[in-house]
Amino acid sequence: MRIVLVGPPGAGKGTQAAYLAKNLSIPHISTGDLFRANISQGTDLGKQAKAYMDAGDLVPDEVTIGMAEDRLDQADAVEGFLLDGFPRNVNQARALDGYLERNAIRLDGVLDLEVPESEVVRRIAGRRTCRNNSAHTFHVESRKPKTDGVCDECGGELYQRSDDSEQTVRNRIEVYHRETEPIIEFYKQQGLVVTISALGPVHEVTQRAMDALRRDQA
Ligand code: ADP
Repeated sequence: MRIVLVGPPGAGKGTQAAYLAKNLSIPHISTGDLFRANISQGTDLGKQAKAYMDAGDLVPDEVTIGMAEDRLDQADAVEGFLLDGFPRNVNQARALDGYLERNAIRLDGVLDLEVPESEVVRRIAGRRTCRNNSAHTFHVESRKPKTDGVCDECGGELYQRSDDSEQTVRNRIEVYHRETEPIIEFYKQQGLVVTISALGPVHEVTQRAMDALRRDQA
């Protein structure tokens, strides 16, 4: 299956993507994770991306599209993939369409995670992320780790992402409305969009997503 996941920051894309990718046996490709890996390795690409990410702005398309296509070219993505955080604007969506066409493949669906804005701010401002695995996330009020600062899943160190401060979050939400939401309309015209609510316990949302994708394929 070839799936694109969209939703505002804080919708739980990373968390859901990890479970869905596992259930569907396809790689989880997150451009945010790719950028963060480049930053921690100190690559040129990471250096280019960092300032944009810290401000909550999009990294320029010239950098992002090439990085995403390189990842899609890798062997594990040939049979399918779950894209998380790409495309993030209409220009990237067009670039992805071009890539798919060149490779004679198609998307099976675009899963749109819906969350009210008040919930988005609450989730992100209290979010703590594991340094080893960005899908391991906790919340200072609603999902406390057993030991402060330590990931329950793998023992990694928990930290607050530098772009999770309240001011940056507000900008990320604005950028989402302005740049990313229009791709939902773009994909609706291709009949690909499946919308689900991202409220409720994590496993319930995963179940909802799996059911919606199955119905869509039927
Ligand atoms: P979230 O979905 O919670 O905002 P991500 O980890 O997906 O977090 O993305 C973090 C940041 O990485 C974004 O705010 C942006 O700066 C950058 N980024 C990720 N994907 C893209 C993309 N497709 N295009 C441009 N910038 C991106």
